[in-house]
Amino acid sequence: MESKKTILVIEDEPHIALGLKDALEFEGFHVLTSPTGKDGVHRTRHDHPNAILLDLMLPDMNGYQVCEELRRLDAFVPIIMLTAKSQEADKIRGLDVGADDYVTKPFSIGELVARIRALFRRTNRPSEVMNFQLPGMTVNISAHAIERPGKQPEALSFYEVELLRLLYERQGQPVSREEILNKIWGVEANPTNRTIDNFIVKLRKKLERRPDKPEHILTVYGFGYKLVV
Ligand code: CA
Repeated sequence: MESKKTILVIEDEPHIALGLKDALEFEGFHVLTSPTGKDGVHRTRHDHPNAILLDLMLPDMNGYQVCEELRRLDAFVPIIMLTAKSQEADKIRGLDVGADDYVTKPFSIGELVARIRALFRRTNRPSEVMNFQLPGMTVNISAHAIERPGKQPEALSFYEVELLRLLYERQGQPVSREEILNKIWGVEANPTNRTIDNFIVKLRKKLERRPDKPEHILTVYGFGYKLVV
């Protein structure tokens, strides 16, 4: 038997925190809750949860700050942001500070659990060495990080890793948006072409010398993307 995975829920509204705890325990997870950002950071440091659900609006710190703190503590723990805001800009900002995914309130518990399981599946993949060189950096897909000489590795989120893995496996060839959506997000989530574009923008910021004039992650107009190494 696989041991129970621990999920930390950082949420100040007691009825939402309790509802999530009940539902996730029913799904077989062990659940911890924190009512504040500070407590959530403390819990992460001491209890090492396997995944974190993070409310964006907390009484003491905003969710973006909390997310940055959590990422400093653990570069790889899956973080899903719970946001009441549906604006695209908030989601992108959440992903920029290190969240792996987000759900917009009100969300269904089924969708949330599907996303948690998807993130766990990705972390449970058998390890294989996969990396490539770009000017000034090694993109280490296996280690989920960009490595630059003399610098701390820069963490890649799970979706960034999956996207890079797919493009790398087919380097030099165009990969369609449809294939990217199907292979990476699957049928359970509900992503849009915008979702892919946002991840491409983020990856270009990390990998390209000039993100506005990409040399490695190229747009294939009307079709998709390709990686040129
Ligand atoms: Ca809240």
